[in-house]
Amino acid sequence: DHQAVTVIGLGSMGSELASALLDRGHPTTVWNRTVEKARPLADRGAHPATTPREAITASPLVLACVLDYEVLRSVLEPVAEALAGKVLVNLTSGSPEQAREMAGWVRSHGADYLDGAIMTTPPGVGSPEMMFLYSGPHAVFEAHRPTLAALGDPLHLSDDPGMASLYDAALLGLMWSTMTGWLHGTALVGAEKTPATAFTPIAVRWLTAVAGFLTAYAPQVDAGRYPGDDATIDVQIAAIEHLLHAAEARGVDNALPELLKSTMERAKVAGHGSDSFAGVIEVLRKSGDQQ
Ligand code: NDP
Repeated sequence: DHQAVTVIGLGSMGSELASALLDRGHPTTVWNRTVEKARPLADRGAHPATTPREAITASPLVLACVLDYEVLRSVLEPVAEALAGKVLVNLTSGSPEQAREMAGWVRSHGADYLDGAIMTTPPGVGSPEMMFLYSGPHAVFEAHRPTLAALGDPLHLSDDPGMASLYDAALLGLMWSTMTGWLHGTALVGAEKTPATAFTPIAVRWLTAVAGFLTAYAPQVDAGRYPGDDATIDVQIAAIEHLLHAAEARGVDNALPELLKSTMERAKVAGHGSDSFAGVIEVLRKSGDQQ
């Protein structure tokens, strides 16, 4: 027996969410401001609601994935009383503060609230490899886990509804840093006629080693002690000179490595030169400047 689900918002992402639910046999009701976007889903058996009120009323579980929180409030506010007794799972991207505020607003209308962050692009929806992060009451998450598993691998982070957005921001930062580092390296080897397709398999293997460094450094960060018995910040400040020099000589933009070097130097000035790279956290934290 499959739970009935409503999906509000049928953009690139919302359409894939509804599609994954249909694939798993969930009776699915959909609503979108632009009505035509419901048509391909209706052709596959989804019920197109004509109003947000009809959409919310149709199912005990309501997923929302629209542009931003402002849009979601503008859709829900006129029909707020229809939320009573429902579970709203908000997969719209926003800040932790917006998630906490939305949770309070939804609860004030008698509904349960989970906030979610989708850690994939639309083609990855429905794949059990892709993470969907959730925060909000654990019991509500557990009750709906089987349905949420239709979308991807559901991970519950915290009862605090803001945590999914906070993790989302942290993970996107990691993604952008990593992708920019990869493109910088690609430009560097590309200056010597190496195609990206030759460099990238080696870069991906290197990321596996880098993942090992993160795993080794995490307990150091938690302990606030960074024994530099593998590679010190001092050694890495010397090593980054080679990257700067190689990029400079090939006309490759050096803004990223300059930033990395100056961050390592700030850690050195703060007394962490003989620590492992994990000691850099001391200058990234808000309190870092005062220490
Ligand atoms: P789209 O631009 O494809 O879809 C935006 C959705 O918001 C549409 O359903 C659109 O309706 C609706 N919308 C916009 N303005 C209004 C409004 N004023 N009133 C009513 N509805 C409105 O974006 P995505 O589907 O890609 O993204 C949706 C959310 O998912 C965003 O918060 C995004 O950050 C998040 N997300 C997206 C990922 C991705 O890879 N695409 C990955 C992870 C999260 P209409 O069709 O009528 O314009």
